[in-house]
Amino acid sequence: MSDLKQDFFRYVCQTSPEPMALEIVCAEGPYLITRDGRRYLDLLAGIGVANIGHGREEVQRAIAEQSQAYLHPMVYGEVIMEPQVRYARRLADVLPGEIDVIYFINSGAEAVEGALKTARKFTGRQKLFSFDHAYHGDTFGALSCQSEPLYRRPYEPVVPEIHVLRWNDVGDLERIDCDTAGVILEPVQGEGGVRIPDAGFMEALRERCTEVGALLIFDEVMTGFGRTGRMFALEHWPVAPDIVVMAKALGGGLPLGAFAGPRPVMQCLSTDPPLAHVTTFGGNPVSCAAGLAALEILQKEHLPARAKTIGEALLSLLQSLCQEFAFLKTARGLGCLLALEFHRAEDCQKFTRLCMQNGIILGWTLFRDDVIRLAPPLILQETELQLLDRLFRQVCRDIAKHRAP
Ligand code: PLP
Repeated sequence: MSDLKQDFFRYVCQTSPEPMALEIVCAEGPYLITRDGRRYLDLLAGIGVANIGHGREEVQRAIAEQSQAYLHPMVYGEVIMEPQVRYARRLADVLPGEIDVIYFINSGAEAVEGALKTARKFTGRQKLFSFDHAYHGDTFGALSCQSEPLYRRPYEPVVPEIHVLRWNDVGDLERIDCDTAGVILEPVQGEGGVRIPDAGFMEALRERCTEVGALLIFDEVMTGFGRTGRMFALEHWPVAPDIVVMAKALGGGLPLGAFAGPRPVMQCLSTDPPLAHVTTFGGNPVSCAAGLAALEILQKEHLPARAKTIGEALLSLLQSLCQEFAFLKTARGLGCLLALEFHRAEDCQKFTRLCMQNGIILGWTLFRDDVIRLAPPLILQETELQLLDRLFRQVCRDIAKHRAP
């Protein structure tokens, strides 16, 4: 084992018993390159971050220019930083109509915290709802929106008055009442195994929230920035949320999160008391410069549309594998957020391991050990699609050959 690898295991706090532990020296396009010269096709895009691919020059240049000008002049919200203001304005342009005030923060979980606090403060109500199998991050408020006892129990008691609704169950929406401050959901659940809302569910949810005056919060941390074939997943339904939460691809590869809403809602954070929600590093100008450059690439190269095309090709490949190999159960996806479901968790793990041995990075989801998620950069070319066709078939044949009945 190299010295660096030993130090990684010895000094860097570990989060899993079996980390990938690849020593990355460079990243370009959809590939990660390791010290031993191997090229890995990154089908997770750094977990939903590298939507435009790795190592884009435009982003590197924006980072270099901004870091020469200044890094951190003042806490969030006090001085005018050009990249932050420009990015807020551009985001207001791509978000739905009235959502035009952006609060920048550092990460997805922090942005979720901000959105939940805003819902409570704006409505003066306490009750919040999330959905079963949801994942919104690992800070206390965000963790409290998770229903999985495995991940909640070690940290209990969690934040009170956060309740869980059943996904795709229109009847359960009746529990959202006049004491409800807000309801948070991922438009497509990621860690829950790529669960897509049934027809009519979003409309019913929007209607119920409007009826009782609760804020509807879309967590677009994973689904935003072209991932599902539209700039934001919310564009798939004829409904608009009240607050949108963003992170991951928002920073173009640097840490950045944001929650955004209409002016009357977001205004509640500056009064009664003033400085009701503050952050030191939120909206860091270097992160904003990188994010803005990344958004420009997404728009210029029409990557949301490209995500739709790539996603359709990948989904038809996964579906044809399901027809051919009986140990596969089903495949689903929206744009470039896809899932391959197995009958048995052990086959799912084997598939992941064999793919890794063949230079493909993918992984199972947090709450489903029988589901593999694919969330590649939105720039895959025909060569990569052909490579995946060949390697996935080879891996499946291998599993079928050695599988116990
Ligand atoms: N929300 C969703 C939907 C996520 O997928 C994630 C992270 O995976 C988060 C929130 C938390 O984001 P972060 O890890 O930046 O705190």
